[in-house]
Amino acid sequence: MDENLIIQKNIELNNNMYVLREDLLPYSFGGNKVRKAIKFFDFIRKSSYDTVITYGSPSSNHARVIANMATMHDLRCIIITPKSNDFDTFNSVLVTYLGATMIYCSLQTVRETIEQTIEFEKQKGKKPYFIEGGGHGNLGTEAYVDAFQQILDYEKESNIVFDYIFVASGTGTTLAGLIIGDLINNSMKKIIGISIARTKERGSEVINESMKDYINEKNLNIKVLDDNLIFDDSYIVDGYGTYNKNIEDVIEEQFNKNGLPLDPTYTGKAFWGMEEYIIKNKIRNKNILFIHTGGTPLFFDYFNEKGKSK
Ligand SMILES: *Cc1c(COP(=O)(O)O)cnc(C)c1O
Repeated sequence: MDENLIIQKNIELNNNMYVLREDLLPYSFGGNKVRKAIKFFDFIRKSSYDTVITYGSPSSNHARVIANMATMHDLRCIIITPKSNDFDTFNSVLVTYLGATMIYCSLQTVRETIEQTIEFEKQKGKKPYFIEGGGHGNLGTEAYVDAFQQILDYEKESNIVFDYIFVASGTGTTLAGLIIGDLINNSMKKIIGISIARTKERGSEVINESMKDYINEKNLNIKVLDDNLIFDDSYIVDGYGTYNKNIEDVIEEQFNKNGLPLDPTYTGKAFWGMEEYIIKNKIRNKNILFIHTGGTPLFFDYFNEKGKSK
């Protein structure tokens, strides 16, 4: 399957705004988890694994995409999930529909549940491959080093140079890949990760670790400076999945004006964060690329909750 680049233009914010529509990647409602999953499954299929195990919350886009790619490649799929009460999201419904085995645990016992599950599968004679939550790891990072390269190719074709790139940042793998892509190509863009949950301290630590791992594995001759990593935690509200009126307004405005579906957990939060960042830093007359990282099922979860009350 080819990943293609779909860029939506003319979203106005006193700058030239462009949106990289990763949500339109042609697989299982798209998103950054598709690019990452393609890398993981390319690797898995070269070996004799028969089972894929991963971790994801009920609203996890990663879990949906992994469950789907597992059915496509005829692999068993086990999703470990911290589901305490029985609330369904479109992602969790799809994961179930795709026939993945769900293993529930509390947030405190995630690591041990993962280890026990891997061990149990091995004892049964299965060959499990574990993918970190969110598709974290060098293969996930690589997916966005590649995507960055595609962005540069797009710039050449279209004669546009993006000054800024904004992206929602969770585990930070996507951001790590983009920054490494920038450093490899010496393209000197400002790449800004809007944190959707983590504090600057914790988030930066994990992203620096991701970049170090990738640089070591690939033996790259690049150096990451402090200035290269911009991970802004000013817009996390009260943490993962929480949102405010500003985010709701941005979602409504972008859908009405530009037909751009955003969700409150990831892309809506990041889009709002980007708007605030642009104002705060007085950014004018620049070419700005917002990477829409997907999450279409979360848009519908939100719509289910809010749309009815209109
Ligand atoms: C997972 C996810 C992110 C965050 O990506 P990371 O690589 O974990 O930082 C952003 N947006 C959406 C829609 C996601 O599903």
